[in-house]
Amino acid sequence: MHFTIKNVLIPTDDAYATTDVQVVEGIISAIAPDLDVVGTAINGEHKLLLPGFFNAHTHSSEMWQRGIMSILPLELWLAELYDFAPLDTEKVYLSALGTAVETLLSGGTSVVDHLVLIPGQELETIATAVRAYQEVGIRAFVAPLIQDESLTAGIPSGESEQNHQPYFRSMADTLAIIEEAVRQFHRPEEGVSILVAPTGIQLCSDALFSGCIELSDRYNLCRHSHLLETKAQEKLAQEKYGCSAVEHLKRIGYLGDRTSLAHCVWLNDTDIEILAATQSTVVHNPLSNLRLGSGIAPILKYRQAGVNVTFGCDGASSNDSQDLLEAIKIGSILHNVTDIDYQYWITPRQSVEMAALGGAKGLNMGDKLGSLTVGKQADLVLYNLTSLSLLPRTDPIGLLVLGRPTNAVDSAWVNGKQVVVDGKITTTNVDELRQELFNRSQWDTQRKSQTVAEIEAHYRTVMGL
Ligand SMILES: [Zn+2]
Repeated sequence: MHFTIKNVLIPTDDAYATTDVQVVEGIISAIAPDLDVVGTAINGEHKLLLPGFFNAHTHSSEMWQRGIMSILPLELWLAELYDFAPLDTEKVYLSALGTAVETLLSGGTSVVDHLVLIPGQELETIATAVRAYQEVGIRAFVAPLIQDESLTAGIPSGESEQNHQPYFRSMADTLAIIEEAVRQFHRPEEGVSILVAPTGIQLCSDALFSGCIELSDRYNLCRHSHLLETKAQEKLAQEKYGCSAVEHLKRIGYLGDRTSLAHCVWLNDTDIEILAATQSTVVHNPLSNLRLGSGIAPILKYRQAGVNVTFGCDGASSNDSQDLLEAIKIGSILHNVTDIDYQYWITPRQSVEMAALGGAKGLNMGDKLGSLTVGKQADLVLYNLTSLSLLPRTDPIGLLVLGRPTNAVDSAWVNGKQVVVDGKITTTNVDELRQELFNRSQWDTQRKSQTVAEIEAHYRTVMGL
């Protein structure tokens, strides 16, 4: 757990410096040139050291359906997703491993897994994901995805009288599962945290939100939800509450500096002020928002209002990858077309700060993670600046964020423990993982979702299509 990186490039305020970085007991203990070697010496020559990024919103088990999901908007896409989710815990294990590996090899050292639970095997699902993340050694924020309304309730009713099936599990049972998961697995100091994670206003009652708030306060848990991902959800919030979803969430006390909210596409100016005032975090998932036609989140407005913003890949069925650097690139330059004032466009250095410190703040760990600072935990990534994709030599962070880096991650540490060496994951057998993913799947092109067929006409009517 002790090591010293010698002669490594680190960013300074507006340039770079070559220096040494010492890590003792998982903590960055010194950053200065010509330090004595403590523990293992790591050659940092021609390499760039950055704080690890956060993949601040994903759903690991969606990996099983990447590449095949129909080109549909969220509400219909979700129906198809759940029609073809024949999950078992072995698959949960493998896709969590895969999500961790892809995140680590694209600069992430933390993952927020908004984890879909297998009905009837909820605690086993959580245990399995925790086991996979601990094996790989990535810092894991496991956010079991819960709801208490069935899927059709997530679509606005419009003029029609809609009756929805009751959800199969009671709210009390759901909250009991989360509380038990906290007892068994919430070990922040060991790199595993459990979050309360009601999926969003579209499928959750106020009582469920209140239960989550209560657990969050009692056990000091962060809160994580989807928020106003689609136009349909904006309509639904008006139907349900007669006000915006953000106003409603503020009223019931869900927002705060431990709350991170994925997507945030359809917010108005008042909503943005509320997010800023409550110090909530926005998780920007640009690729998923493009893939599902959800819209472009007003990220530059958030930043100007002082809202903390970070990046997520979202699940691999709506992305269809877990390449964090890709999400950061698109999520940064996308706004050059939405906002005409280029003075607010996101620079590569700002992207890095959003991906690292922004992620840490959203999980209430801004004082422990997210920057190269003495005293912080050593979640670090070393990039190989001699990778072909990062040459010729210009601005290293510019190459990393604006380019298309391949095989650029040389080493990664989580809490001072090295999990990537020479571009290879050392903690889990990736060849075996590839073999298992191959063996448990097959080439496929044609599927028909029964549920999409049942609900599409109503969706088109309420959306005016
Ligand atoms: Zn999501």
